[in-house]
Amino acid sequence: MKAIIVEPKKTGTVRLENISEPQPKEGSVLVRAVAVGVCGTDVEIAEGKYGWAPQGQQYLVLGHESLGRVIDPGPSSGLKKDDLVVGIVRRPDPVPCPNCAVGEWDMCRNGLYTERGIKEIHGFMSELWRIEPEYAIKVDPSLGLLGVLLEPSSVVAKALEQVGLIGRRSFWEPKTLLVTGAGPVGLLAALFAKIYGLDVHVLDRVEGGPKADLVRELGGTYHSGSVKDLKFEPDAIIECTGVGQVIGESIQKIGANGIVCLAGIGHGGSGLSANIADVASSAVLRNNVIVGSVNANKRHWYRASQYLARADRSWLMKLITRIEKPESFMNALQRKPDDIKVVIQFSEI
Ligand SMILES: [Zn+2]
Repeated sequence: MKAIIVEPKKTGTVRLENISEPQPKEGSVLVRAVAVGVCGTDVEIAEGKYGWAPQGQQYLVLGHESLGRVIDPGPSSGLKKDDLVVGIVRRPDPVPCPNCAVGEWDMCRNGLYTERGIKEIHGFMSELWRIEPEYAIKVDPSLGLLGVLLEPSSVVAKALEQVGLIGRRSFWEPKTLLVTGAGPVGLLAALFAKIYGLDVHVLDRVEGGPKADLVRELGGTYHSGSVKDLKFEPDAIIECTGVGQVIGESIQKIGANGIVCLAGIGHGGSGLSANIADVASSAVLRNNVIVGSVNANKRHWYRASQYLARADRSWLMKLITRIEKPESFMNALQRKPDDIKVVIQFSEI
């Protein structure tokens, strides 16, 4: 079968190749790939900056944002042939740590977890893949291709859950949410916060264009300046840029008792734009919580599937700005200015 593979941490090794079909030991549910979303992590792995092959193997099949159709549900999954499914990405560590032991692999303590398409387990960019029944999430069939948005949605569902849990340490009646960064995660956060009934603001560096239109269509407010110039104090901020200046300004802009959830991953940058002690003082004096959030456990995947099922299909479809064939994987792995979510489609929906 065709698969998009890479030799991790070696530049120029990403390629489309024929590899053997997955073995039943990889999961009793056999799935035909429909589509796989591409994100920044895939680009980094393809560029040789990140990623780990399964033990004893040279290559890793890329892809962690899956969508497929069940070919063979196996003996025990409860799934049916032709069901649309998405595969959960992370697996608990083998020790396991206390969090993995209770199914909270997203909060793994020892870092020995594995991840499909990222860390030591093959991903989903292959014509066929297998999945253990307990890691297959059934998707509302009416979502069709939009089911490929479930993985980034699970990350958002966790971030919003964390904010809600932390908020309850005091009287918590959030009204205003700011999202920084209008990529797929930021826009999905805006969508889900709207479903909650919050007043949603999204800030991105681009002025106008499709991202701004998407925010307005949700009934949200779009901003293209800097966080410090905003004329209001949000109750919560979901920070998706990973940019030092945006993070620093977010912590200084958040309202009293407010929560800044860091969901973006950045690298380096041009040094501190604000003195870290001043940023911290602002958090101390206003009882702020700064929380990091990554990955998702089964509870978040399930919640995300509920949110997506309730969302406007035509709005969601505008998040998918490019669909590429597996043969055009190099195009798919290239970031273009108007991209929101790029998808590689393996078969008809
Ligand atoms: Zn663990």
